[in-house]
Amino acid sequence: MKYKRILLKLSGEALMGSQNYGIDSERLSMYSNEISKVVNKGIQVAVVIGGGNIFRGMQAEKTGIDRVQGDYMGMLATVINGMALQGSLEAHGIYTRLMSGIKMDQICEPFIRRRAVRHLEKNRVVIFGAGTGNPYFTTDSAASLRAIEIEADVVLKGTRVDGVYNADPEKNPDATRFSSISYEEVYQKDLKVMDMTAFTLCKENDLPIIVFDMNTPGNLQRIVMGEEIGTLISM
Ligand code: UDP
Repeated sequence: MKYKRILLKLSGEALMGSQNYGIDSERLSMYSNEISKVVNKGIQVAVVIGGGNIFRGMQAEKTGIDRVQGDYMGMLATVINGMALQGSLEAHGIYTRLMSGIKMDQICEPFIRRRAVRHLEKNRVVIFGAGTGNPYFTTDSAASLRAIEIEADVVLKGTRVDGVYNADPEKNPDATRFSSISYEEVYQKDLKVMDMTAFTLCKENDLPIIVFDMNTPGNLQRIVMGEEIGTLISM
């Protein structure tokens, strides 16, 4: 096993599947299945999930709601997704804890680092909801921050593309994929891996990132076993 403790970042948008809003039950179940395979191998798994399928802070400004208010709405959306994933993982027989960056005692625990680590040691999947708990951040930043706090070996950013390309592969058929790349080259080439705040946090703490296609069954397991899948970003 190459990695013992991972932080998996899933976008909220991916949860929509083929729908244009909300949560697609097939996609949700597929993600739980993928996660359960690695948990059953004894890998410690933490998850940060986005909220873009329900609400994004930026979206609020268009409707006349101020940005900060919108960001809090976005954070609540990530808790809804976290609860969905929790429910689905439990249906797959996996023990879970949902921890939130904003206190909501009736539905989840507050984020307490030492507790999160203890849950992981007991092989519970820990889902971090409500992002960082602060406006003006993204769930990518939450993923980097929590990964550093719990001393994860790697951030696995599950997307619908199979890695980082030198151009947008969905627009440019000649785009080529990097199998590995340094943090420095990502800056130089202005590649879109994560937003800069999130990315810099990883770089400064020497936390490797792997961008990979989460929609291909088995990929998550292959990565933790050490197969070179997607794009590895490291020193
Ligand atoms: N958000 C925030 N602080 C955080 C994390 C998220 O304010 O620490 C808000 C922000 O408005 C963001 C929304 O929550 O647009 C949903 O998260 P994100 O857009 O990162 O989700 P994804 O793109 O992964 O679906």
